Amino acid sequence: MMQTQLNLTTMVKHAEKYFADKTVISRTLSGVHTIPYSKITERIHRLAGALKSLGVGKGDRVGTIAWNHHRHLEAYFAIPTMGAVLHTINIRVSPDDLAYIINHAEDKVLLVDEDLFPLIERVKDQITDIEKIIVMTDKEELPETSLTNMASYESLLEEADPDTELDDAIDENTIAGLCYTSGTTGRPKGVAYSHRGIYLHSLALGLKDTVGLSEEDIAMPIVPMFHVNAWGMPFAALWFGTTQVLPGPMPTPQILAELVEDYKVTMAAGVPTIWMGFLQALEQGNYDTSSLRCILCGGSAAPKGMIRTFESTYHIPFVHAYGMTETSPIVTLARLKSYQQELDEEERLELRSRQGMVVPGIEIRGINEHGDIPHDGNTIGELLVRGPWIADAYYKNDRSEESFRDGWLHTGDVVNIDEEGSVKIVDRTKDMIKSGGEWISSVDIENALMAHEAVFEASVIAVPDPKWQERPVACVVLKEKKTLTEEEVKEFLTPQFAKYWIPDRVLFMEEIPKTSVGKFLKRALRDQVEEMLSLSDSSS
Ligand code: ADP
Repeated sequence: MMQTQLNLTTMVKHAEKYFADKTVISRTLSGVHTIPYSKITERIHRLAGALKSLGVGKGDRVGTIAWNHHRHLEAYFAIPTMGAVLHTINIRVSPDDLAYIINHAEDKVLLVDEDLFPLIERVKDQITDIEKIIVMTDKEELPETSLTNMASYESLLEEADPDTELDDAIDENTIAGLCYTSGTTGRPKGVAYSHRGIYLHSLALGLKDTVGLSEEDIAMPIVPMFHVNAWGMPFAALWFGTTQVLPGPMPTPQILAELVEDYKVTMAAGVPTIWMGFLQALEQGNYDTSSLRCILCGGSAAPKGMIRTFESTYHIPFVHAYGMTETSPIVTLARLKSYQQELDEEERLELRSRQGMVVPGIEIRGINEHGDIPHDGNTIGELLVRGPWIADAYYKNDRSEESFRDGWLHTGDVVNIDEEGSVKIVDRTKDMIKSGGEWISSVDIENALMAHEAVFEASVIAVPDPKWQERPVACVVLKEKKTLTEEEVKEFLTPQFAKYWIPDRVLFMEEIPKTSVGKFLKRALRDQVEEMLSLSDSSS
């Protein structure tokens, strides 16, 4: 067979040739714009030309600090197809981490949204290698700033050559993208994506048994383009000629619901906190969401109650998926096998709230101290993953060895695998609770709590205990105008779990601290709980 290179240039050229009239719907600060792919691909050539004229060469890193919109999409393709590296930067990390990430990646040029500009101003004295900052704005003028090395994205594109060649000979193993994990512990770690990895991952997104992304879809990645490449959707969507709806700066649940209604979105992807908010918007407003054939939810566990509400109340099919920054990200998806469709509703829901079946192309194992765990849906072990879109090291990081050993990525996620091969994450290794020598899954208790009609969200953590080593404590945020007592919560859990699983304390809170991508930040929660418990001890 021929050895053609699996690179992003092939993907752009395909869209250019066959999908000129398909569109990207892009929300920016000035409104919602509908832009044909012919225009997007022309601007990709121009951006590649503009970057070249600024001295960006092969292998150079170009950072983006941006929301999901058409300019960011152009950067997604222009940077890798000129042989440079697209470095998507998480806008929600601390200023210190932001400076660290930019310096560690040695970004040469930054593309920054006008409203995110203050993030860069705050760290300007800490960043070292930046030669040019390009501002992405709809306005004629640039924001007022003390920075001097600035340029306007639109002016650069206007001056650039629309016939700039994209490099179609790029070796498929060249780095196309770079993204740092949001890092619940320690400094963020970089993951480098190859052209080949992105190409194969995009193909996987098109499989009917995964996301089934196709030309027919109107896809809305809500998951930020600075977080694992918006789960790879913009890459696959442009290649397949899928209409894309990019929801822009600070999309509120109401804005998202309006975009779904106005543009007849067929599939959308986001983390559970996004979908929780979306549900509230649907409860409060009257939106037509009948176009949605699938919402894809991953990043942390989707509570069963939420899946049920989407499907039974709003008739929106819900697909739960699992992955990591290190895995591009798709690893598993909770789809039923044909013969499992005959199970009763509760059993099906139970299966679909697991993280699901591994996608073709990727291999998984669960291991514990005895070796590979049996597929019995009960024994737990750490999940290991390998395949062509799984990273094999962290970018320029000598601590890589801990996670990448013996040809496998050690995920740090504790799972069981059932007889059919479906994976269930019971916890992260560091969040498991060990009480009197027995493991307790914080995730299972959280799911049960979030199924209570008065509970908005809940997180369960371990606190040290002199007798049992660790005991679970539940932190609960109630829905507006709802009340519950500690005793009522415990009574609600009692029939569902063994006695030792019932949390010793239930603490009610206004909010649960979250990471930059909306996951429970258990480290901060533990500190908060420690303080609350010591206050209540000293007052009693
Ligand atoms: P970070 O590691 O910085 O939080 P990632 O987005 O890469 O950022 O997070 C990957 C982790 O998120 C996984 O290792 C897993 O613990 C968790 N995760 C992702 N998807 C799911 C899911 N569907 N259910 C439960 N946990 C999930």
